[in-house]
Order: sequence, then C-alpha cells, then structure tokens
Amino acid sequence: MSDHQNLFAMATAQFTKAADLINLNPMVRTILSEPQNEIIVNFPVTMDDGSHRLFKGYRIQHNNTHGPYKGGIRFHESVNLSEVKALAAWMTWKSALMGIPFGGAKGGVSFNPRNFSPAEIQRITRRFTYALGNNIGPEYDIPAPDVGTGAREMVWMMDTYMQMFNASERNQTRRVVTGKSLLNGGSLGRDKATGQGLVFCFDVWSQHAGFPIKGSTFFVQGFGNVGSHAARIMQARGSRMLAASDHTGAIGNADGIDAHDLAAYVAQKGGVKGYARAKEIQQTEFYHTKADIFIPAALECTVTIDNEALIQAKYVVEGANGPTTPEAEAKLAARGITVIPDILANSGGVTVSYFEWVQNKNSELWDLEKVDEELNIMMTRSTEGVIEEMKSRKCDPRTAAMCLAVGRLEKIYMERGIFP
Ligand code: NAD
Repeated sequence: MSDHQNLFAMATAQFTKAADLINLNPMVRTILSEPQNEIIVNFPVTMDDGSHRLFKGYRIQHNNTHGPYKGGIRFHESVNLSEVKALAAWMTWKSALMGIPFGGAKGGVSFNPRNFSPAEIQRITRRFTYALGNNIGPEYDIPAPDVGTGAREMVWMMDTYMQMFNASERNQTRRVVTGKSLLNGGSLGRDKATGQGLVFCFDVWSQHAGFPIKGSTFFVQGFGNVGSHAARIMQARGSRMLAASDHTGAIGNADGIDAHDLAAYVAQKGGVKGYARAKEIQQTEFYHTKADIFIPAALECTVTIDNEALIQAKYVVEGANGPTTPEAEAKLAARGITVIPDILANSGGVTVSYFEWVQNKNSELWDLEKVDEELNIMMTRSTEGVIEEMKSRKCDPRTAAMCLAVGRLEKIYMERGIFP
C-alpha cells in the first residue's frame, strides 16, 4: 500500500512518537488512536446530460473533547477513508495546539472537480450536504474549504443546510461552515489566512534562528489557496520565489518569479504551465532548487525518501497537511534541515475560521487589521510554545507540537473522565 493510501498509519506513527515521549495515559491513548465517528455516504447526482452517477463522500469526526468538530471538505479523485481519517486527526491536534475551542474532523468526496461542470459541482456539493444531514451543525461539526473547494462550495453547503430549518432559525445556522464568501458571512482575511499564518509562524521561527527572511529565497509546491498566498506574503517580506509547481507542471527562474504575476496567470490559465517569465523544469530539478525555504502546499506525501536527498533548502515549512513522510523527515533532520510541521505552520486557516465562526455567532464584523493582528498573536504564541517544548524535550519540531496538543487533550480527559 502506498503512503498516500495508508495515510492514517503515518498519522498514527506521529501520534505514537509523542504519546510515548509524554508517557500518555493509556485510556487517553486508546481513545485518541481512532476517530469517534466515521460517516460514509453514497449519494446519487444528476449529470448535465441527464444521466445519474453515484458519489462516495466521507466525514470523519476524530474528536470533539476540545469543542465542536472542525475541518475541511476535499474534492479530489484520491480521497479515501485512510486519508480522511489522518486529516481529521491532524485537525484535532491543530485545534488543541492552537488552543482553539474546536475538535477535529475532515470530509471529502472522491471525484476530480476539473472533469465536471459548475452546475454538476453545485449538485454534488448540495447532495453531499443533504446526505450528511444533521451529522454537521453550527455547534456540532463545522466544515471549511480544503483542496478542490473554496468559498463557492461553502456557500452552497451553507445554503443547503439552512433549508432544513424554519425561516426564523436560519440566520443562526450560517456558521455551519466557515470559509464562506464575504457577502455570505465570511471573514475578511480568511482567503489568505493559511498562507498568512504560515508567514507569521516563520517570522517567529526565523527570528529565533537568526535567519532573516528579507533577502532569502523560497520555492513552492502547489500554487492554490495556501501556496499562492504564502508566496505573495513571503515576497512582501523581501523573499524571492525561485520555483513553483502544481498539477500542470513545474517552473523555475533563478532571477525570481513575481508571485502576484504568477497568481494572476494561474487564475486565468488554471495552472503554472506555460508561464512565460520562467522556464519549465522537471520534478527532480524542482526539488533540487537552490533556495533557503521549501513550502510544500499541495498534497500529502510529496516529500519522501525518493526525493528527500534532492532538497537543499534550510527549512521545509509545511503549508500542506502531511507532505513529509516520517522516513524522509528523519533524513532531512539528519542533514540539519528543519521541518516546521503542518499542525503549526498551516494552522492559520482554522484560526481565522474560528474568527469567522465567532463573528457569525455574535453578528460582528471584524476589519482586516483586527483579523491579522489576532492571527499574529495566536501564531506567535503557538510557535514560541513549540520552540520552547522542542528545547525542553530535546525533540524535533513535529514531536514538540504533538506533545503540546496531545498533552492538552490528556489534561481535559483527566479532569472529565469518561462516561459512565
Ligand atoms: P487548492 O486546491 O487551492 O490547491 C492545491 C494545489 O495543489 C493546486 O495548485 C494544485 O494544482 C496543486 N497540486 C495538485 N496536485 C499536485 C501535484 N501532484 N504536484 C504539485 N502540485 C499539485 O488547495 P489548498 O486549499 O491550497 O490546500 C493545499 C494543502 O494545504 C492541502 O494539503 C490542504 O489540506 C492544506 N491546507 C489548506 C488549508 C486551507 O485553508 N485551504 C488550511 C490548512 C491546510
């Protein structure tokens, strides 16, 4: 079985390492080792040509001890049970690490949205939401965007969910999803939140390491929501992008690629391929890019023992969830390359989702300055915490982050016990 097909085994290995290190209470270890609920739905959708197709959708609710289940919805052809379980567990750790009063969940539908019309995608989204029914809810389980979904799909989910309520109750249900458009209850700054949070986190990390961002270089894998925003914000800090890749291919330019210009090109053409101000490069050349920072922001298991040796960067800052396999991570560490883990580096998304949920609940509207300021405070606090934990436990950054997250959940369980 490939890493990708068995992602939950990878997530479990990370959990076990931290659990062993903190000598986790056996009851808590048992509870956290599997998700609380695994929901699989098969639902029919009418295609544009009048035919019908059955789709398989997942919602995995890993843990809600720390607050309502929270996590994205992925539309991608490789979505499978093991993958969604791993992604749900990482959401639990992420919320706990950040101290956000949410638990962890993830969902997805196994199909490639690029092969379907917008009308078909809308029907798939709505029918999936309907199939989930009250397995989601504004105080129970709150989806958000992930790979292949964005504000458009979140608004369709919100609208479908709202239809299940009386008109007088509907307004209070809009926070059933986050990552909505601004017009439909979204928060300012949510679109760039994950990239912004990644840069806030790296700000703190680089200051501790005495490594200036200004004048540095980076390259990005995946130029979607996370990758393209991270690139634009890194550029604004005076760092230069030397290569970028996505599902269409990889491009490089040793003199630098303008992140705004590339984002505009990708928005128009659908991918980085054919971008005239850089040359097309092979994957081996891409991984071997001579830059200080590598930001994997595509899918999981993209940094493996097959390509790890090519990486020359000083830092791998995980924008994606689970991009680095444990074997590759150990080898990178042995070569002195720091991997700043997903549950810390990409937690800006769930953090601003939390801000959106709070704004909806209280009928508030925060300005962008407030969103960024609050995000910076939370990213700084959690990054400082991980650095401190790493020093005191003499462990790698991911294990330190996991120790903090799992340790927090352990304390909660110790106070509450289990029913009956
Ligand atoms: P997205 O759909 O906006 O972008 C995904 C990008 O990955 C696209 O550019 C796509 O072309 C690229 N890609 C796909 N296959 C590839 C391949 N084989 N090689 C290189 N690139 C490839 O998704 P996103 O929301 O930016 O999510 C990216 C990653 O970040 C995922 O791991 C996701 O779970 C994680 N993440 C997202 C958020 C968020 O707020 N959106 C938050 C935290 C973590």
